[in-house]
Amino acid sequence: MCENSKREWSIKDFEIGKPLGKGKFGRVYVAREIKSKYVIALKVIFKEQLEKYNILHQLRREMEIQISLKHPNILRLYGWFYDDERVFLILEYAHNGELYKELRKRGHFSEKQAAKYILSLTKALAYCHEKHVIHRDIKPENLLLDHEGRLKIADFGWSVQSKSKRQTMCGTLDYLAPEMVENRGHDYAIDNWTIGILCYEFLYGVTPFEAESQNDTFQRIRNVDLNFPPTPLVSRNAKHLICRLLEKESSKRLSLQKIMEHPWIKENATDMTVGE
Ligand code: ATP
Ligand code: MG
Repeated sequence: MCENSKREWSIKDFEIGKPLGKGKFGRVYVAREIKSKYVIALKVIFKEQLEKYNILHQLRREMEIQISLKHPNILRLYGWFYDDERVFLILEYAHNGELYKELRKRGHFSEKQAAKYILSLTKALAYCHEKHVIHRDIKPENLLLDHEGRLKIADFGWSVQSKSKRQTMCGTLDYLAPEMVENRGHDYAIDNWTIGILCYEFLYGVTPFEAESQNDTFQRIRNVDLNFPPTPLVSRNAKHLICRLLEKESSKRLSLQKIMEHPWIKENATDMTVGE
């Protein structure tokens, strides 16, 4: 997709293919730019919906952030356009779909696979943090896989460009950090907590603080009530990394740089397979 070749896109530039999925505000289709034959994903959002929920401002912010992010593990937003009724987002096509589906299909990932995903995710987040972007909604549903199985972070709906501590309640329950549950201010270390949750989920197939009720989950997060089940068998190094990320005190959590240097990552995520 040569995004500089043309300033303005319209629906006439694309051949629309099969639907890929349906989100809260729109539908996503595979599509092909007619001239270059380049395959993309087209996200179609009805303006009426945006007005109803008063999120036009949020979408604009999401688009501005995503357009500026160019990293092999972040889903590209090539551009956008609109007509009277709809807004269209021209997105990189993630051929292998949601990581979540892959995880459910397999139950849990091998240590090598998990480490490869964690390293990709960490690299992408390090890049975001350098640009003062906190994602805040990292969860398997927002992680897609491209045709080579490379991890791509999607959905910047809740991300925020910030240099200061933020105080908004957002994100999905099981992935919330204690500082969010307790509604204290939070910063970049929130994404580091989430890496710990995902690392656990990749290896065990379930999130660490799952409980019967929301309240119980909140309580377990607040107490960092972390257990490692006997099966599947998980290495000591992996558990060490998880413990060092699921620290209640955000300043004690392993930095992104330290994650990349952690023995478990070094042993399991050989750079050749990182997918860059
Ligand atoms: P939200 O409206 O909060 O973003 P959502 O993430 O469920 O909700 P979408 O982002 O609109 O919804 O995407 C819907 C589904 O379409 C995704 O879950 C995914 O399966 C598929 N999808 C979205 N974008 C792509 C893409 N670029 N490549 C391949 N599949 C995609
Ligand atoms: Mg989405």
